[in-house]
Amino acid sequence: QTRSSADLIRAEEPVLAHNYHPLPVVVARAEGAWVQDVEGRRLLDMLAGYSALNFGHRHPALVEAAHRQLDRLTLTSRAFHNDRLAEFAERLAALTGLDMVLPMNTGAEAVESGIKVARKWAYDVKGVPADRATIVVAAENFHGRTTTIVSFSTDETARQGFGPFTPGFRVVPYNDLAALEAAVDETTAAVLLEPIQGEAGVVIPDDGYLAGVRELTARKGCLFVADEIQSGLGRTGRTLAVEHESVVPDVLLLGKALGGGIVPVSAVVARREVLGVLGPGEHGSTFGGNPLAAAVGTAVVELLETGEFQRRAAELGLVLRDGLSALAGRGVVGFRARGLWAGVDIDPRVGTGREISERLLAEGVLVKDTHGSTIRLAPPLTITAEELTGALGSLEKVLSRA
Ligand code: PLP
Repeated sequence: QTRSSADLIRAEEPVLAHNYHPLPVVVARAEGAWVQDVEGRRLLDMLAGYSALNFGHRHPALVEAAHRQLDRLTLTSRAFHNDRLAEFAERLAALTGLDMVLPMNTGAEAVESGIKVARKWAYDVKGVPADRATIVVAAENFHGRTTTIVSFSTDETARQGFGPFTPGFRVVPYNDLAALEAAVDETTAAVLLEPIQGEAGVVIPDDGYLAGVRELTARKGCLFVADEIQSGLGRTGRTLAVEHESVVPDVLLLGKALGGGIVPVSAVVARREVLGVLGPGEHGSTFGGNPLAAAVGTAVVELLETGEFQRRAAELGLVLRDGLSALAGRGVVGFRARGLWAGVDIDPRVGTGREISERLLAEGVLVKDTHGSTIRLAPPLTITAEELTGALGSLEKVLSRA
């Protein structure tokens, strides 16, 4: 006998850590841009697993790649080679214009790995004295939840109670090249940034900022590490968000959509002079680069090679932008959008982000609030124009019902 949504939500309370505050919906099935709850109600997914579902739920090509691989080989560990990893690395490097891949699983692991690689590069190649390397990061960043990563978060909720913290980070304001210039010195291994700050509310820097970071890091002799875990893989209308400024970082961090919404797959992708600093035994992961992950990751790269998803994000992004522009002053006090990705600031007189998310849920549209008054829209890139227009209509409806 299936348990009701209310029953399942109640059942979680005593047995699951309370580190999330989910909307009261229990998803049981999904396909494309749509999910279905336990009672069979269909809802449009306008969050797409924080961009882990860029290709929609259960994209047929990805599910097929996973099924095929499940029937052959799932895990070897890196103690041995597996027959899927070479192609994944070759195609991911080619897609991103970089040379080498370090496969990991979650986004936070990719960030941790990127930090380790940058520090090792600073000691081995740049010649920074032992244990003196610094990494410059931006305020309001979100790079994950490990102890080292929350060490340089500026969100007190993410840090409070989790110290002591890892030293070696300098925080500067985002979108401020002068502050970055002042913070970078001879100890700097890398500047680590999100090209668009996702969790901060889809904060898009001024035109020229990313190109400026590229110029500054090259001139000062440190690495530019771009965390494209949320912004990358089609979301903004390009394969990578840095492409909007024709920037190629030294190190690229990928995750979320790289696993096609099926398995956790992340990667550090970098130039050979950088990732080449790692030797046997210096870093690793039992599951990183496993054949199932590599098979799904390769199928994801194959989808991106067609350019179709980037094109859809760019074209439908115009529909999204127009729809949000029409709501400006009518419950929306501001928004930032690039491709199929928007942070929408809700007029506090109309409701909090949470309240708007709950009202949208009642209308059959799934979104999630961030930072109190902002909601984030990031539908699967497979969404149709009609579905997107429908979701914007639902937003208009809930905003007008103050
Ligand atoms: N980096 C960025 C930019 C992210 O948005 C996230 C997750 O939201 C992460 C890193 C962490 O990824 P994960 O939750 O897979 O550890």
